[in-house]
Amino acid sequence: MSYEAYQDETLGFTTRQLHAGYNPALHYRSKAVPIYQTAVFELGDYDRCVRLFDYSEEGDSYVRFSNPTNEVLEKRIASLEGGSGALALASGMAAISNTFLNLTNSGDEIAAVQTLYGGSTTLLSHALPEYGITGRFVEDENDIESYKKAINEKTKAIYIESLGNPGMNIVDIEKIADLAHANGIPLVIDNTFATPYLLKPFDYGVDISCYSATKYLAGHGIAIAGLVVEQGDFNWLNGRFPQFDAFYKEYKNQISEETLKREMFTKRLRIRYLTDFGAHMSPQTAFYLLQGMETLSLRLDRHTYNAQKIAEYLEQHPKVESVSYPGLPSSPYYELGKKYFPKGAGAILSVRIRGGQKAARRVLERVRVFDYMVNVGDAKSLIVHPASSTHFNQTVEERAKAGVYDNTLRLSIGIEDVEDLIADLDQALQ
Ligand SMILES: *Cc1c(COP(=O)(O)O)cnc(C)c1O
Repeated sequence: MSYEAYQDETLGFTTRQLHAGYNPALHYRSKAVPIYQTAVFELGDYDRCVRLFDYSEEGDSYVRFSNPTNEVLEKRIASLEGGSGALALASGMAAISNTFLNLTNSGDEIAAVQTLYGGSTTLLSHALPEYGITGRFVEDENDIESYKKAINEKTKAIYIESLGNPGMNIVDIEKIADLAHANGIPLVIDNTFATPYLLKPFDYGVDISCYSATKYLAGHGIAIAGLVVEQGDFNWLNGRFPQFDAFYKEYKNQISEETLKREMFTKRLRIRYLTDFGAHMSPQTAFYLLQGMETLSLRLDRHTYNAQKIAEYLEQHPKVESVSYPGLPSSPYYELGKKYFPKGAGAILSVRIRGGQKAARRVLERVRVFDYMVNVGDAKSLIVHPASSTHFNQTVEERAKAGVYDNTLRLSIGIEDVEDLIADLDQALQ
């Protein structure tokens, strides 16, 4: 008998979500990935200590930098995504903010679409500018000319989301990647709503993927977690990133050329930001995440099946004004959805209820299976009124740009029996 599935990258997605990156022979043959509940590891001897701290030897010394439980998680997501390296962080916002910090110096800019998760919009428009880093928003995310206008010599990345929140818009990733690369900058995506099962960003030219693993990757909604994955081909030494030139010089004698080049982004993210800013994911959380990810593909198949059925049901309902879901032929994103999301365009949809805010509120108050919560990507179905919650501090114009109106409800469709979900919405709409 051989147990080699952990390192066979030719295996299918579902096989790898169970096995990739974990070799039980290195962990007392424990079949479950052990939780290394310790803050520190013994250094062994003096020479090994030096090697660990000059990074010429890979190993664990202090758990904020790395630990064996998180390493399995990092290898597993890198395998599922098809990337060269990954890093686990304390939350989705930690993954995104540390990524931006790794890309920029004071004075630099990030070009981003406007249809972002609320926390990311605030980060780019309010928090980072206080440190001299500017988020420059693209006027029209469907028009490549708009992206060109948002790029200048200070721009260090283009930032997009795989499915916009909450309007479920899809951008033409390949075209944007070409534009980014023509300008010597990477394309960064927040792939939280799609997961690597529904969308493989690296197949379309994306260089860095960020996740709020709190959502679908976990699925059970029991932990806050973030991940960053790098594709590995981007040339960080192209003259546009002085911080990476310096990093390369500092580590080229200790870390192999191949590793340094293929994992430059996540290595610097770990050595600079995880170590000094400290947004560490606890091994316990990594363990919870690994449990959730074992069923990712199965859950997503059911999520998207249910979402498609519910979108079709809602679209023909007389009390519904409109439904935004790329799986509907009426969606302006239907064609892009077919190209980028052949397995289904996610399981989040937004719906405008006839009768304005009052009617939307009545639906919220009457659902019995759907939970009234701001989260998304849980195995359970969730409903929320974005204008009074996630998008509360935005102006009416900003909300409209994100597809949020007074009568908009956002639904995150779970894996319950779809008949029960439809019956619940039906009685609430009556
Ligand atoms: C939830 C979410 C985030 C933030 O993640 P946390 O884990 O809550 O910090 C970022 N992006 C998207 C798309 C999200 O849904």
